Amino acid sequence: MELVVATGNAGKLREIRRLLADSGIEVLGLGDFPGLPEVVEDGLTFAENARKKAATVARLTGRLTLADDSGLAVDALGGRPGIHSARYAGSDAGDDDNNRKLLAELAGIPAGQRQAAFHCVMALCRPDGDCRFFEGMLPGLVLEAPRGKDGFGYDPLFWVPEYRRTLAELPLDVKNRISHRGQALRQVVAQLRLS
Ligand code: IMP
Repeated sequence: MELVVATGNAGKLREIRRLLADSGIEVLGLGDFPGLPEVVEDGLTFAENARKKAATVARLTGRLTLADDSGLAVDALGGRPGIHSARYAGSDAGDDDNNRKLLAELAGIPAGQRQAAFHCVMALCRPDGDCRFFEGMLPGLVLEAPRGKDGFGYDPLFWVPEYRRTLAELPLDVKNRISHRGQALRQVVAQLRLS
């Protein structure tokens, strides 16, 4: 079975490829379809953005397509950056800029009040526009300084109490076992096995 994964985020694609490695599903990336337009993520929820990405790419490629919309919701910031996680520090912002902005926004907030959660909504869409949704969530804490070199995005600031490590200090297989994306993708695989 072929599955197009509609993401331009190299970190996400690496995790999804690893999670699907033994599934028998052949993963195609956006690089396999040159010339596709960029999908504007102007939805108000993770689900709307995931649907827009997956449904557009499914229609244009004629193939079953999976898209992930995800982000970090920080309690002390009323859930921000949320759906704006990728561009938190501006439209050209990279991971380091976003992490710096997050630390600045949380300056002075004590360790006991830095709860946060990663959220992921995946949309699995057929070329005819039929979509199904799958969700995952990983709770944790935002540290006051980055730790670790692996992963992407906010991983170096995200402390997982159960493992006493940040996501950037955990091997990819461990991150995938517990992460918001791993949780959602395992449900996708179960659904694909049924259909
Ligand atoms: P999206 O491409 O609009 O879904 O943006 C997702 C953004 O959320 C990423 O660019 C990261 O900033 C953040 N994010 C999502 N998942 C993770 C993760 O597993 N680790 C770290 N950051 C993540």
